[in-house]
Order: sequence, then structure tokens, then C-alpha cells
Amino acid sequence: PFDVLVVGGGPAGASAAIYAARKGIRTGVVAERFGGQILDTAAIENFISVKHTEGPKLAASLEEHVKEYNVDVMNLQRAKRLEKKDLVEIELENGAVLKSKTVILATGARWRNIGVPGEAEFRNKGVAYCPHCDGPLFEGKDVAVVGGGNSGIEAAIDLAGITNHVTVLEFGSELRADSVLQDRLYSLPNVTVVKNAQTTEITGTDKVNGISYIDRETGEEKHVELSGVFVQIGLVPNTDWLGDSVERNRAGEIMVDKRGATNVPGVFAAGDCSDSAFKQIIISMGAGATASLSAFDYIVRSQVE
Ligand code: FAD
Repeated sequence: PFDVLVVGGGPAGASAAIYAARKGIRTGVVAERFGGQILDTAAIENFISVKHTEGPKLAASLEEHVKEYNVDVMNLQRAKRLEKKDLVEIELENGAVLKSKTVILATGARWRNIGVPGEAEFRNKGVAYCPHCDGPLFEGKDVAVVGGGNSGIEAAIDLAGITNHVTVLEFGSELRADSVLQDRLYSLPNVTVVKNAQTTEITGTDKVNGISYIDRETGEEKHVELSGVFVQIGLVPNTDWLGDSVERNRAGEIMVDKRGATNVPGVFAAGDCSDSAFKQIIISMGAGATASLSAFDYIVRSQVE
């Protein structure tokens, strides 16, 4: 069995694996896609001490750093079940069952989809999830942001500076973003905010040419012509596969204490899949290190053989 088995190969998982391996204990990483969300990220300018880098470049450095150590990396493997027995068992989609004294869950999160026609079809053909990555592709064009929470309004403010015009579509009767962000948004000349808007379709031919929505107050169907749709309706933690095996909050985030411990002895969690206050690379890496040191401490203190 492993001493530490990390599930997830993003910033949190890579950090956890390196910290564990440096203790000279048997360490494994199972990752559906080594690198995680940063593979989809363009510029990164808040990874402290590195003024500027790009996601794929940082992902390559993570992998290189992990491979410096004796870590068993199982890439392109998805975990589907966790069970705590004497050891912790992780069953993979391919049927294999891995056993470990401790497990660190670092499965991250993904952007929530609207689930309307056109969204999947036009992904990367006008449908985008990351204003930092794809904003410049829509320079001088008209775009929509779906979602009026903090991420949606931040995206709209960001895009207003690059594009010709931004339409914000919010399902509810009010924006949910902090008032300071709303004030900033309403001060911009090229933004229209539509509330009570239920997005029904993203239209296009070979790429996006518009968005349709129903005005929930009047029931009227509307269509706006534009070239891009940024979906900003939240991050979903990749934790469904855990079921009730580990305690999660209403948002599905794994509940951890300040040592990264979950409610299951020997099972720890770190990064965007946990109930951490902020979801960032540097924060995930710190949490991965914390969880790993806690796992080591657990091994030292327990009698598991
Ligand atoms: P992730 O990066 O999500 O990694 C999760 C890992 O778990 C992946 O390897 C995944 O394949 C794997 N996994 C998931 N489910 C399973 C399973 N069942 N079995 C096995 N493996 C599984 N943060 C910043 O600090 N600065 C930025 O500029 C920045 N820009 C961003 C831009 C974009 C477009 C996005 C999407 C995010 C950005 N972030 C940024 C946030 C940052 O990427 C995340 O906070 C960080 O990647 C979280 O790391 P993580 O290791 O917790 O999770």
C-alpha cells in the first residue's frame, strides 16, 4: 500500500505529493488530468515571486518538480469511490483498487455549465468561461456574461475594457455581486444589465452569433446579437464521486479543519475541492502542503501497518 495517496494532480495535489515524497514515504498521485485547471489558464500574474507565467508552463513545471521525486504518478485515471477500512481504499474507473494509509483529496473544481442548446456546441467558438484567457479574442466585439454574482460582474467589468459592449444576463431579480462591484459596473458606459433573464439558447452557425433568453417577468422571448458568451455561474467542486464517504457542505465542498483533516481519520483534503475561503493557485499549494504534513503526522502517530 501507499503511505500517502493523492487524488488530483493540480497545484494542491502536486504540492501535497512533493511534501510527502520529501519525507521518504511511499507516495502516489492519481490524476484525471495532471495539471488541473491551470492547463486552461492563460496569464498568471499572482503566483508570488513569479511575475508572469502561463498555465501550461506552470503545469509543466509542476510535473517536472513532482518527477524529481519517487512519486508514482497515475495520470489519466479517475477515482470513483473512497472507502475507509483499516486502510483507505480508492477505486478507479478502470476497476483497480488502490490502498493507502492516508489519502489527500485534491480533485479541484470546474466551471458550472448553463446546460442550454449551443453551449457545448460552440465551446471555444464563442462560448468561453475565462475572461482572463479569452477576453482579448473579443476585442471590439459584443459579448454577454451569464451570471450576476461576483465572478460574473468581475468578468463584465474586465470585458467592458476590451470589447465594444457587454450584456449581463442575471436569472434572479437582483445582481448577487458585492455592491462595490455593482457600483463599478454601473459606472461603465458600454454595459447593459438584464435581470430576470433565463438564458434559453446560444445561437450560431459555425460560431456564436447571439443569445436567446426569456424575460421571466413578461414571459417574452428576446434575442441579442453578439459574438461571445462568457458563462460565469459558479465553480462546482469535483466531489460527487465521494457520496457520503466524506463530509461535504451544501456546495459540495469537502469540509476540512485548519490541518486539512476531513471527518474521516486518515483522509485529508486541499485546494478548490475543499471549503477553503478562496480558490487560487498559491492558496491551493499551501493547503496541499498542510494536508501532506498532517498526513505524515497521522502516519507517525497511528499504528497502521
Ligand atoms: P485543480 O486545478 O482543479 O486540479 C484538480 C485535479 O484533480 C486535476 O488534476 C483533475 O484532473 C483531478 N481530478 C478531478 N476529479 C478527479 C477524480 N475523480 N479522480 C482523479 N483525479 C481527479 N488562480 C490563480 O491563483 N491565479 C490565476 O490567474 C488564476 N486564473 C484562473 C483561470 C482559469 C481559466 C481557471 C479555470 C482558474 C484560474 N485560477 C487562478 C484558479 C486556479 O486555477 C485554481 O484555484 C487551482 O488550479 C486549484 O488547484 P487544485 O489543485 O485545488 O484543483
